[in-house]
Amino acid sequence: MPTSELSSARRWLPDATTGRRFPSFHVLAKPVGPICNLNCRYCYYLAKEQIYPERKGMAFRMQSEVLEEFIRQYIASQSAPVVNFAWQGGEPTLLGLDFFEHVVALQRKHRPTGVQIANALQTNGTLLDDRWGAFLKANDFLVGISIDGPEELHDRFRADKGDHPSHAKVIAGLRALQRHGIDHNILTTVNSANVTYPLEIYRYLKDLGSRYLQFIPIVERPGRGPRVSPETVPAQAYGEFLCRIFDEWVRHDVGSVFIQLFDNTLSIWSGMGSPLCVFAETCGDALVLEHNGDLYSCDHFVLPEHRLGNIGELPLAGMVNSRAQVAFGIGKSESLPSQCRRCDVRFACNGECPKNRFLTTADGEPGLNYLCAAYLRFYRHVRPAMDTMTALLAAGRPPREITHIMQEADFAHAIRNARPNDPCPCGGGLKFKRCHHGDGFLKTRPPRQAEDGWGDDARDPRTLGHLHNRASRNPRRDRAV
Ligand code: SF4
Ligand code: SF4
Repeated sequence: MPTSELSSARRWLPDATTGRRFPSFHVLAKPVGPICNLNCRYCYYLAKEQIYPERKGMAFRMQSEVLEEFIRQYIASQSAPVVNFAWQGGEPTLLGLDFFEHVVALQRKHRPTGVQIANALQTNGTLLDDRWGAFLKANDFLVGISIDGPEELHDRFRADKGDHPSHAKVIAGLRALQRHGIDHNILTTVNSANVTYPLEIYRYLKDLGSRYLQFIPIVERPGRGPRVSPETVPAQAYGEFLCRIFDEWVRHDVGSVFIQLFDNTLSIWSGMGSPLCVFAETCGDALVLEHNGDLYSCDHFVLPEHRLGNIGELPLAGMVNSRAQVAFGIGKSESLPSQCRRCDVRFACNGECPKNRFLTTADGEPGLNYLCAAYLRFYRHVRPAMDTMTALLAAGRPPREITHIMQEADFAHAIRNARPNDPCPCGGGLKFKRCHHGDGFLKTRPPRQAEDGWGDDARDPRTLGHLHNRASRNPRRDRAV
């Protein structure tokens, strides 16, 4: 499961109040390496067992001395008042509660006065029960749980080692979290099986009672060429998936449902940069610690050539600031093809993750992102709404006001396109000709549907109260573009 995103799972806007002695960095810990009780068809991390051929099964369990060294060094290397730990796998709950009780005890032992510790756990949810619930609540863990949608979509690729479906067990785990009032979010991978069901998935996740959602595209290659795995999401379809959910969210759920990509996009639009590494100009501050103390450049680059060293031999902060890691992070920007440098949404996309840059540009240059078509579609589609929300923020008003603006724009659009004998778009039950027909300025202009699907009304300054004009004068937005 790609989860360099985990660190920002719930609180993903940057904390501008903290200064750090060292450049900000985050380490995702894999205390059971790639070992998992599921066998998800798209999981790239299961194959990491081959990097440690001498280990089998629970021999991947992180030893106590490695764990303590990591916790001690990680706390010492951070100067923020809150130190964020993230635990992932494989499946970390395979280690049992006693392992995480030990984690918490070591964190208390090494925590300086005045420093808080926060823990996040990414899990497939199948082993969670009330004992886990009580522990996670008592220690204020944030939990990310992986659900790919309703049963039939989730079970397409997320089966256990015996090829049994996992959905029922995951939902039981989610209910255990909810019974104990644990902060949680849902991580949904978008793949070739579920990409054509955006609204079914979105509404299902909301019905589960979850308010924090992440959508992560599956892009995997069997080899080094451009051929992708059968589970990989088609790029165009992924763009559509995001747009359909965005359209529903922006009309009904801003301020009550939090979708990581949309929050990240608003952060970029309003000049605060990208909290997510994949859309940042450079990267290199989201590292991975394997079970034996080996540190790697990134969750997607757990490869021998990206091993920075071992925390038993080298200081953690030194490896993070090493020449190799700095070059890794800057390489993201330096390797951007010229098609991206000229792109009108580059400020938001930045060529996405280097892992996915295996296409060739129209000029024949290597390094174009496989998901390029998705991000062109998505960022251009959300531009009017992002401009409006940015303007709302600049005016000291909550971005959720956009839901009313959009509903008014939709109504105006429906009125403009209604025929006399149609039911009136107001829903009052009368024919249009006996209801809102002829009301005010709405009928004075011919109907028009913009290419991005928003319709002309979504940009009408009379509808939007001149907020777009304010957005275009916003200096932070100008700089971002
Ligand atoms: S390679 Fe860079 S952008 Fe991609 S996940 Fe890793 S840190 Fe993030
Ligand atoms: S949308 Fe495509 S061309 Fe534009 S920056 Fe992203 S990957 Fe590059």
